[in-house]
Amino acid sequence: MAYEPVIGLEVHTQLKTRTKIFCGCSTAFGAPPNTHTCPVCLGMPGVLPVLNKKVVEYTLKMAIATHCRINRESRFARKNYFYPDLPKGYQISQYELPIAFNGFIDIETNGNQKRIGITRIHMEEDAGKLIHDPDRPVSMVDFNRTGVPLIEIVSEPDIRSPEEAGAYLRHLRAIVRYLDISDGNMEEGSFRCDANISVRPIGSDFFGTRAELKNLNSFKHVEKALAFEISRQIDVLGDGGRVIQETRLWDPDKNRSTSMRGKEEAHDYRYFPDPDLLPLAIDDDWIDAIRKHIPELPDEKKRRFMEKYELPAHDADMLTSSRELADYFEDCLLDFPNPKPVSNWVMGPLTGLLNAENKSVTESPVSSKDLAQLLVLIEDKTISSKMAKTVFEEMARTGKAPKKIVAEKGLVQMTDETAIEEIVKKVLRQCAAEVTDYKNGKTKLFGFFVGQVMKETKGKANPKLVNEILKKLLENKK
Ligand code: ADP
Ligand code: MG
Ligand code: ZN
Repeated sequence: MAYEPVIGLEVHTQLKTRTKIFCGCSTAFGAPPNTHTCPVCLGMPGVLPVLNKKVVEYTLKMAIATHCRINRESRFARKNYFYPDLPKGYQISQYELPIAFNGFIDIETNGNQKRIGITRIHMEEDAGKLIHDPDRPVSMVDFNRTGVPLIEIVSEPDIRSPEEAGAYLRHLRAIVRYLDISDGNMEEGSFRCDANISVRPIGSDFFGTRAELKNLNSFKHVEKALAFEISRQIDVLGDGGRVIQETRLWDPDKNRSTSMRGKEEAHDYRYFPDPDLLPLAIDDDWIDAIRKHIPELPDEKKRRFMEKYELPAHDADMLTSSRELADYFEDCLLDFPNPKPVSNWVMGPLTGLLNAENKSVTESPVSSKDLAQLLVLIEDKTISSKMAKTVFEEMARTGKAPKKIVAEKGLVQMTDETAIEEIVKKVLRQCAAEVTDYKNGKTKLFGFFVGQVMKETKGKANPKLVNEILKKLLENKK
């Protein structure tokens, strides 16, 4: 039987507010343990939480950006459980009445567009961090993270492959980064994902029993863990077994997941409305005010890039994957207003360089101004695009301006037709045997002649002219 996977993702993203969600403590990362704490986030008896307005604003931004409906009145709820990193014995979250629901984002995989539903978005506080000492039989707890604001974004089970899951997460992360409400850093835990997955016979209207995967802290891990889980569940069903509802932990070193807890051990959180916090009322004026401050988002930017710059969808997609990359591209256009070549250079050599050096575009060793100047030199035929690659490498290495490198290395292109023609003639004389072969139908030799001319000119001849002149002379000789 053929099966298909059904996937729904729960994403927790840490908001970039200066202070915590219910107290004035700093959210700054990396401070000495337990220095960003107060009676409220330490869960002392008798204290009262006060909601941080910025947290609501950031969440509303996300809700608007993901086309969600917004509850004019939402509630905070207590999610009760015991854990040493949770000093109150409960986490303040939202349950029956989340701030936002019923949204969607559009993703693209292999050129196909697909809409993934967003079930709900809610606000909650983060827990602290346990640190297990490898040298002593003790665990320590750091409460700096308790009360750091999170939003949880729950998707509908609309995702049908690991690739779609990856595309969904990347798009969601691009949105939080465009909105500037979160770092979206998966490795550092400011963007975390739990994946729910089941399989079912293709064509079935029912969902199978799902497993929940945890500990997925990179896009690669999510995709690998899902692929593993899909084949594991299909194997179980194929052997006549049943998938059980459980939580599984991904082990990136062993490339497999193991059962962490089954349904019997599933928590009953005894949610109830938090009596310390009033229902949160949101009016239209507030929503409108926030809507005005939403920047151009990846989808709109992509559409604009395709229309205004006549770029293919693939280019527009890549260039708008981050706001900074899109800005870099548009900055280049200020000095070299020819979108497609700029796009090719940004997606090709520039991205290659950034990946190799593990740098973000804002740390690029080649500025947008210098890249544009390089393209000007190609266009006015000072250098060939092949030479440009060398110049680019030199720019990346030394940070020098392209003009300077071209002058220093004497990399000026030969564009004098008469001079090139002389060299072509010389080459054809030297290669009389090949010319005869060519005329007898071995037309593949054309590339050989081009190579000889380039060798003779030390790569400086304009390739387009070399081609034209070679064609002309070889035709004449027939
Ligand atoms: P819980 O709070 O117990 O994790 P939810 O009902 O909130 O349960 O669902 C969490 C996620 O699981 C959602 O993203 C949802 O789309 C997904 N999901 C629910 N049922 C299935 C299923 N049968 N297969 C795959 N994913 C599912
Ligand atoms: Mg869950
Ligand atoms: Zn505090």
